[in-house]
Amino acid sequence: MITLSGKPVCGGIVFGKIYIYSRKESIIVRSHVSSSDTEIQRFENARLQAYNELGELYERAVEEVGKANAMIFQIHQMMLEDPDYIESIKNIITDELLNAETAVGQTCDNFVQMFKAMEDEYMRERSADIRDVSERIIRILGGKSRSGIDTDEPVIIVSDDLSPSETVQFDKDKILAFVTEGGSDNSHTSILARTMNIPAIINVKNIVSDEYNGLNAVIDGFSGTVYINPDKKTTLKLRQLQKNSEENIKNLEQLKGVPNITKDGQKIELCANIGNILDIPAVISNDADGIGLFRSEFIYLENTAYPTEEQQFEAYKYLLSQMPDKRIIIRTLDIGADKQAAYFNMPKEENPAMGIRAIRICLRRPEIFKTQLRALFRASVFGRLAIMFPMISSEWEIIKILNIVDEVKTELKSENIPYSETVELGCMIETPAAAIISDILARYVDFFSIGTNDLTQYTLAADRQNPDIGEFFDIHHKSLLRLIKLVADNAHANGIRVGICGELAADTSLTDFFLSADIDELSVTPNAILPLRQKIINTDVSKVKESILSDILN
Ligand code: PEP
Ligand code: MG
Repeated sequence: MITLSGKPVCGGIVFGKIYIYSRKESIIVRSHVSSSDTEIQRFENARLQAYNELGELYERAVEEVGKANAMIFQIHQMMLEDPDYIESIKNIITDELLNAETAVGQTCDNFVQMFKAMEDEYMRERSADIRDVSERIIRILGGKSRSGIDTDEPVIIVSDDLSPSETVQFDKDKILAFVTEGGSDNSHTSILARTMNIPAIINVKNIVSDEYNGLNAVIDGFSGTVYINPDKKTTLKLRQLQKNSEENIKNLEQLKGVPNITKDGQKIELCANIGNILDIPAVISNDADGIGLFRSEFIYLENTAYPTEEQQFEAYKYLLSQMPDKRIIIRTLDIGADKQAAYFNMPKEENPAMGIRAIRICLRRPEIFKTQLRALFRASVFGRLAIMFPMISSEWEIIKILNIVDEVKTELKSENIPYSETVELGCMIETPAAAIISDILARYVDFFSIGTNDLTQYTLAADRQNPDIGEFFDIHHKSLLRLIKLVADNAHANGIRVGICGELAADTSLTDFFLSADIDELSVTPNAILPLRQKIINTDVSKVKESILSDILN
C-alpha cells in the first residue's frame, strides 16, 4: 500500500481505480512520407471519424443542454467539410510529401492567422474553432482516445492540475474523485468540485505517475489522504468511515423544511452557489432558500464561441422556471484570471487577477455585456431574478452599468419584448475599494453580496491560485472580518440586504460572527446548506454577539 497526502477540498470517501489524466497537447512529429495517396487516405479516415464523433457529441449535448447550446458541434462538422481547409491539407501532403499531422497543423496555423486578421468579430472568433477541430483530427491520427477520459466505469481522476474549463467538460457520471498535484482550495476548480459534491484533494506530491494508472485506490476527501492498493485493515477502516459519513448525511436530511432561525429568533437565508443548470436538483434537494450565486461565466467556458443571446436566454429561463418562487441571483460573466476562454482572445497579462477581468471586460466590450443583459431581462418574466456585478471597485463603474441596463431595457421595450420591472440589481463586494466605499455604492443598488474569495486575496495581497501561499491566505484575518462588518453596517444604514457568497460563508466556525454582524444571507455549495442550518438552529446569538464583535473590532 502507498499512502500519499495533500490538502482536502471536498469531503467524502470513495473507492475506485486511478485514471491518470494527461493534459499535454498533441505534439506533432514532422516526417516525410513515401506515398501521398496513402497519407491522404489516412487524413480522410481521420476526418470522417472526427465528423462522426462530433455528430455523437451533438446528440448528447442536445439532450443535456438543448439545441441552441449543442449547435457548436454542428459548426465544427461544417468546418471539417470546408473545401479550402481540405484542399490546403491535401496540397501540403502532395507537394511536400509531409505526414498528415504536419499538414493539418500547418493548415490550422495558417487559417487561425487568417481568421484572426479579419475585420468581422464573429469571423475572428472562429479561429478558436479551427484550432479545436484541427486538434481533434491530429489526436485521431495519433490513435489517441476521444475525450480526456476514456473509461466505461467511473474513475478517480489524477492530474498535475485541472483548469475550470477542463473540469466542466468532464462527463460527471465518470468521475469518483479529483486528485491533483497542484491547485489551491480557493481556485475555481476546487469550488467546482465542491459544487458537484465530488471528493477532491489537491497538492498531492508525486501522484502523477504512469505506474499508478489503473490501480485500486481509496480517496479520503476529509483528511486529504490517497491510499493506493489499500491493505485489508485500511479498507475496513475506510469502509466504516464511509458508512459514518453516509449516516451523517442521512441525519441532516431531517433538517429539510426546518427554518433557519437561531435559538433567540434571528433569521438568516441559506442559498446555494452553482455554475451549471445541471446543479439545480442539488439546490432543491438540499432545501435552499434560493440561489445566491449563479456563476454565469461557466456558460461561456463550456462553449468554444460566445454564447448567443438565444442560448443564454434558454439557460436563464430554464433556471428561473425550475424555482419560480425563489430569488435567483445571476452574476454577470466573470471571465479572466483563472477562467479563460480562448475565443475572448484576451492579451496576455503579467497580473491577470488584477487585470482586465469580470466587469472590466464587460465595460470595455459592452456588446458582450449587452447580449448577456438582454438574455437576462428577457428571462426575468419566468421567475424572481436578481442580477449582480462582479469585481466592482469604483462608483463610476456602477453608474455606467446602470446606464447600460437602462439602454437594454429601452431597447427591449421598443421591440415589445416583455421583461420584469422588479429585477433586483446588486453589487459584489470583492475588492477592499468596494468595501471601503460601500456606503456610497449602497445608494445605487438593491443588495450587496460579499465575495470573500477575492476579497481575501486582494485585502491580504495573497494569490488565491498559489498553492504555496499557505498561512498568508488567512481567511480569518481581522482585516477581512472588519471589512465584512463595515459592509453589513453600510448596507443596513441604506436599507439594503447583504449576503456572503464566497467560500467563507460555509465555514461554521464563523457562523456566530456572521449572525452577530446581521448578515442577511449566506450562499454556499448545495451540500453545505444542511450542516449550516444545524449550526444556526443551535446558536443563541444574544449570548455571543457582544464578545465576538468586540474581539474583532478591538
Ligand atoms: C468570490 O470571489 O468570493 C466569489 C464568490 O467569486 P468567485 O469565487 O467566482 O471569484
Ligand atoms: Mg470573485
